[in-house]
Formats: sequence, structure tokens, C-alpha cells
Amino acid sequence: MRTWEKNIRKVTPYVPGEQPRRDNIIKLNTNENPYPPSPEVRQAAKSMSTRAMRLYPDPAASDLVEALAYRYHLSNDQVFVGVGSDDVLAMAFLTFFNSDRPLLFPDVTYSFYPVWAELFRIPFETVPLNEKFRLVKEDYARENGGIIFPNPNAPTGVYEPLQDIRWILQHNRDSVVIVDEAYIDFGGKSAVKLIDEFENLLVVQTFSKSRSLAGMRIGYAMGNARLIRYLNDVKYSFNSYTMSRAAIILGVEAVNDEAYFRESLDKIITTRERVKEEMRELGFDFPDSKANFLFATHPDYPARELQAALKEEGIYVRYFDAPRTDNYLRITIGTDEEMNVFLGFLRKYRKK
Ligand code: PMP
Repeated sequence: MRTWEKNIRKVTPYVPGEQPRRDNIIKLNTNENPYPPSPEVRQAAKSMSTRAMRLYPDPAASDLVEALAYRYHLSNDQVFVGVGSDDVLAMAFLTFFNSDRPLLFPDVTYSFYPVWAELFRIPFETVPLNEKFRLVKEDYARENGGIIFPNPNAPTGVYEPLQDIRWILQHNRDSVVIVDEAYIDFGGKSAVKLIDEFENLLVVQTFSKSRSLAGMRIGYAMGNARLIRYLNDVKYSFNSYTMSRAAIILGVEAVNDEAYFRESLDKIITTRERVKEEMRELGFDFPDSKANFLFATHPDYPARELQAALKEEGIYVRYFDAPRTDNYLRITIGTDEEMNVFLGFLRKYRKK
């Protein structure tokens, strides 16, 4: 080993879901929205000026902050935006979890959390979910340096009711609690209504799933003005121009088209329920999902083999090789046509 190699920071990087370069696949592996963004977004993209490309963006992305504040009945100083919720969450880890006491998050959960904790040298402990993949709220009443969990959880889709989140907040007034609501729009109730009551609550959401803008990278956090100020202090300490002008412009259009948003959510939820029923008839089982994906297992088909067989057909789903998830597949809800191809494959697979 060279001397300089001893100075290198060694971490275990996050492995994102595959992003194949081919177009002719059915992509059900990273929870994107199968429908295009609002027509208003598409129009704004077409008429984007060269000025929007030539000039630096507004570091505070004020237009987008204002649109979000208006939409969620908050004041502007209660909203923070960033380059996807991964960026917002990473910034929040840096800002709020700077503690000697362990950060708590569930096992199973979003696999980026331990990666950030390691990167930022935050001690952490995982808290097992129960046999139904539910959070055990009492397990979060112990000493900690912060708490984070997604609601609905990933990759299970399991939703925790607000009364349980309120319980966790009531028992953790001395730490910041982050609720990662990447999938909240697909049937859950947001904890955003609790932020006036709990000064230690940060709610994080994204445009990647329910607003069809994963490629634009837009995420945001909502919380009391003090939390948001601390986030901005960290952000401006190393990373000022975070969002592109294009993302700000398109993000504003997406937030403002509430009718289109509702319509595409309804379609996805209806498809999810239909696919669930049809898969159940084929012998699959699931925890109840309130997200835009299903977390499915089958007693007769090893998940890894089924994933490989689907991939050969050009159908990509996600497999998580970890003890509690290794016989499950996470299947994003696509369009009805895509899901029909997927279900058709499963019906044939069963007969083998
Ligand atoms: N949180 C959870 C629970 C997720 O599943 C994802 C998507 N991988 C994200 C955050 C990040 O999404 P994005 O950075 O696209 O906003």
C-alpha cells in the first residue's frame, strides 16, 4: 500500500437500482412514475430560454420554495429544497445527526441511511421491524442521537399511521426525527401537519415518484424555521448552487398542476390494487403497500431466480440480497399495459 493510500476515506457506497441504457424494457425497478409529468411541465421545458441555461440559478431556489410553501400552507422559511431527496436527506444527516449517541432507523429500510451514517461518521443502531414489517414504536423510546424512517417504508411499502408517528415524536423531544415521505402521495397521510406541534420534526418529500420528475432531481424538506435555517447554514458552507434553473422552472409547474397530479396518482393506485389481486391469485403474498410498488414473495419461486427470468424478458424489478428481503421482489407499478405484460409472464412462469 502506498503512503497516500492510507489517507483515503474508505466507505461502502450505495448501489442504486440499475438504470439500463436500452429503451425497450419494462422498467419496474426504481419506482419512477410511468406517466409523463404534467403538460404544463412539458410546455415549460419546450419553451425554456437560453437565459435559463446561461445564468447561474438562484441559490435559494426561491420560486420553488414559494410554490411548495403555498401548496402545503407553510411559510417560505419552513421549506428547504435540494437536488433530489437524496441530497436533502444527506444534508439533513450532516446537519442534525452530529451526535455521539446512535441514530436509530429500522431494519429493513432505505439502504442509503447506513451509507450516509458511515460516510459522515454518525454512530447508528438499526431497530428490527416486527414480523409484519411494521415499526415497533416503543423501540424508539430509547436514548438516541436522532431518528429517521421512511413512511411508507422502503422497500416494503408499509405505512405507519400518524398516531404512531406522533407517539414517537412525543417520546423524542430531544432529537430530530426525520420522516422520509418519498412515497406518501400514493395513499398515506403526510406528517407535515405535525410540524407546528413538533419543532424537532423534519418531513422530506420528492418530485421523483408522484410528480414524474426523477430525471430533474428535485427534493424538499419541511419543518420549523429553525431546522430549515440550520439546513441552509450547512448547505451554504459547501454547496451553494444546488439546483439547476431547469429543475426550478419545471418543479414550479409540477407543483402548480394539482389536478394532473391527482389524476396520475389515482391511476397508479388503481393499477396497484388490481395487480395485487391478480398476483395474489397466482400465490404471491405482500405486506400491505401504500406506495407505488409491491413487495412480493412467493412460496415456490426463489426471488432471485424470478428476477433473473424477468430480466431475460426485458422486465426489470428490484431484488435486495439481505436476510429479511432475500425472498422478496420489489415491483414498481407501471402503466396498465406494462403490468399486463408482467402478469402475463408470471402466469406462464407458474405453469413451468
Ligand atoms: N427516500 C426513499 C425511501 C427512496 O426510496 C428514495 C428513492 N430511491 C429516495 C428517498 C430518494 O429519491 P430522490 O433522490 O429521487 O428524491
